[in-house]
Amino acid sequence: MAADCFWCKSGITGSVPFPVGNLNEAIGCCVKCQVFSCGHHAIRNTAKQEFKCYKCLVITLISTALVDSTLTSEEKKVLQTFDRELTDLTKTTNETKYGTYEEFELSTPELRDWFPVIRDIEIDWLQWPTNQGRILSKLPDDKLMFLKAAAYILSEIEGADGVTEIESPFRYTLLQSIQVKANSIW
Ligand SMILES: [Zn+2]
Ligand SMILES: [Zn+2]
Repeated sequence: MAADCFWCKSGITGSVPFPVGNLNEAIGCCVKCQVFSCGHHAIRNTAKQEFKCYKCLVITLISTALVDSTLTSEEKKVLQTFDRELTDLTKTTNETKYGTYEEFELSTPELRDWFPVIRDIEIDWLQWPTNQGRILSKLPDDKLMFLKAAAYILSEIEGADGVTEIESPFRYTLLQSIQVKANSIW
């Protein structure tokens, strides 16, 4: 008998655009958080042979945007005071991150329909606290792409209100501040 998907059981109803298998039928165990997940809520990185749930993928994308970036340690501290989650995410670790945004796109074909939409996303920095917005808006474009991808995956799979301000001020504000151009789906 197949194992259940942790995310389906948690009431998550969104899905990646090209899922493998059926909802609620776990096809693997997330390499990072170890939950069993169906192919609607996790993807396999074809380059790194890693099966990762959407939530951990989002965390990896945020971390890729912030680690090894042009941010100074002072600026990282300002981000960490905003959201404690970023204390770990702004540290360099052995965890697998993406070298380039193209690498992310090429290794996650299950998301391919979303890439043109993500490329058209704008972030409204006025939605952010002044200091954090100022720091993040200076990130190079390729780093910002990872933040846009993280926000879009969250909004498609969990919905626009999926993250609470208490759970993660950073992810919450990111989700509120992305503007998807209406015509980009065409
Ligand atoms: Zn699922
Ligand atoms: Zn996971």
